[in-house]
Amino acid sequence: MITKKNIIRNEALGIQEKTIEEDGIKEFLDIIFETTHDIIVLSDPRGRVVECNKQLEEITGYKDEEIIGTKWINYFDEDFNVEETSISRIVNKFGQEIEIQWKHKLLYYKNGGVKGILSVGQDVTYLNTIEKKLHYMTYYSPLTDMPNRTYFEVQTNRIIQEKKSKEKLILLYIDIDNIKYLNDTFGHFSGNKLLQYVSNVLKGQIKKPNLIAHLGGDEFAILFNDINKLNNILKIIEDTQKLLKQPLLFNENEIFTSASIGVAIYPDHGTDAVTLLKNAETAMYLSKESEKGSYSFYSKSLENKIVQSTWLTNELRKAIKKEEFVPYYQPLIDLSTGGIIGVEVLLRWKHPIRGWISPEEFIPVAESSGLILDIGKWVFEHACKQKQIWNQKGHSNIKMSINLSNKELRKKELLIDIKQMIEKYALDYTDIQVEITETAAIINLDIAVSILQQLKALGIKIALDDFGKGYSSLNYLKSLPIDIIKLDRSFIKSIQDENEKEEIIHTVIQLGHILNSKIVAEGIETKNQLNFLMKNNCDIGQGYLFSKPLPAEEVELLLVSNKAYIR
Ligand code: C2E
Ligand code: MG
Ligand code: MG
Repeated sequence: MITKKNIIRNEALGIQEKTIEEDGIKEFLDIIFETTHDIIVLSDPRGRVVECNKQLEEITGYKDEEIIGTKWINYFDEDFNVEETSISRIVNKFGQEIEIQWKHKLLYYKNGGVKGILSVGQDVTYLNTIEKKLHYMTYYSPLTDMPNRTYFEVQTNRIIQEKKSKEKLILLYIDIDNIKYLNDTFGHFSGNKLLQYVSNVLKGQIKKPNLIAHLGGDEFAILFNDINKLNNILKIIEDTQKLLKQPLLFNENEIFTSASIGVAIYPDHGTDAVTLLKNAETAMYLSKESEKGSYSFYSKSLENKIVQSTWLTNELRKAIKKEEFVPYYQPLIDLSTGGIIGVEVLLRWKHPIRGWISPEEFIPVAESSGLILDIGKWVFEHACKQKQIWNQKGHSNIKMSINLSNKELRKKELLIDIKQMIEKYALDYTDIQVEITETAAIINLDIAVSILQQLKALGIKIALDDFGKGYSSLNYLKSLPIDIIKLDRSFIKSIQDENEKEEIIHTVIQLGHILNSKIVAEGIETKNQLNFLMKNNCDIGQGYLFSKPLPAEEVELLLVSNKAYIR
């Protein structure tokens, strides 16, 4: 039957009514109209609904007859703009608030007059809730409901970047002195109570535009952003310390606590958040050592740590030549079969005097000095060489996963280097997997997407490392060509003591699967964590429970033994 609304729809799609009737395209369009998961609404030029599909009732509970003829879309969103994608919050027929993301398109007659409006709406309630939870988890401390370290760093850097005048900024690093005593004597509950008390004191004392944060554990930070005179700061520090020194009542016991404070000043003691925090922390240790409950300013004489990193850079420079690096390999376990399906190469450095130095310590130094480019290439080559040996020994099904740092990802020759290595060691591109972090992608999303797409086109799999540690925006998941999501160790650690996070892990796994990604859980240390992850359909596991990172020969023994890690 040819109705007016059908004509609008079909003409909008540029199809003559006659042809539709003739070759059955009409039925095809009807099928799309009725089977899509999106809401489709056709309105006349004045915004009155002419037709809607069944999905509208499914999602909102409203029936056709309640909608047709009304200005339904304007009705919940007075000033909606046809040109823009908009999100509207509506209360569905069952009284729940849902969020719908709309795209509108004006339909025109051949003479240019407006024929109608086609609106396609997607129910994004579910995605937005996860996004909000992830945002909260990434930027807030649930215990004190205060911004966390990540938030503090991001905001501090923003303030520094937006600064126009040469005014100083003052950063305090605060450590609560006797929390350990409190935990040991009265249990964790009392320690947490104290942290909440401290956070309330800080929230009361420090007002915007100054920043406060709960950095983690018993550590807090403040950034003073609107201060002209040092005297004002000293007064605030002293007032805050006085408040924190007041005795508190816990189970009828009087508790005395105090805060040791370290102070770093921008730009004298650092020009970015991480450096300022680090230097204020160093100063805080001086306070703690000299007199608990006091404050100290960072000074040049406290610069041991800086000297350390210069020393480290020099030593790193020599390390490749002196053959001090050793690649270790940590098994990746297929959680459905219990077998090893791959290994991640993790660099180890044995310094002739200091002994083993952790990558957590030297990788950041290598990155900031640019040495990571040489080191990364060295690791890549060794991993390929090892992969060739294992292929020849019949372990060709083991994938080799290699970490790529931010700097490497932006290196022009990255693709050429990788192609050369693959050829040199007669490997298949599918033998290799690279791990990148979100920060690498965030720095320049377009470049990252293009490089990753080229790698992916070759057959190399892409893993997003440390998911949940940094920004964890679902946008990155959606826009990057990711095959694998590695859930950060901090997530896995929280299993069984934070219900809130368990739910997030569950949702992230589900979401990853919707996006066709495999999920790897990092840092599995206990059976409980493993069981939880298996119950939630996590695909792959990595952690001390299965195996620590090991030298190649030891991993080879595991490969030969063909051991099943899960029974
Ligand atoms: P990552 O890529 O997230 O690697 C996982 C880290 O977790 C490794 O630390 C590994 O030893 C550790 N780990 C694995 N299972 C467990 C567990 O059950 N419990 C605990 N507590 N830890 C576990 P590692 O080797 O110290 O490396 C730290 C980071 O340094 C790596 O994190 C990676 O970001 C970086 N890194 C290491 N080697 C390289 C490299 O060759 N190139 C680059 N660019 N970065 C590297
Ligand atoms: Mg990794
Ligand atoms: Mg990781």
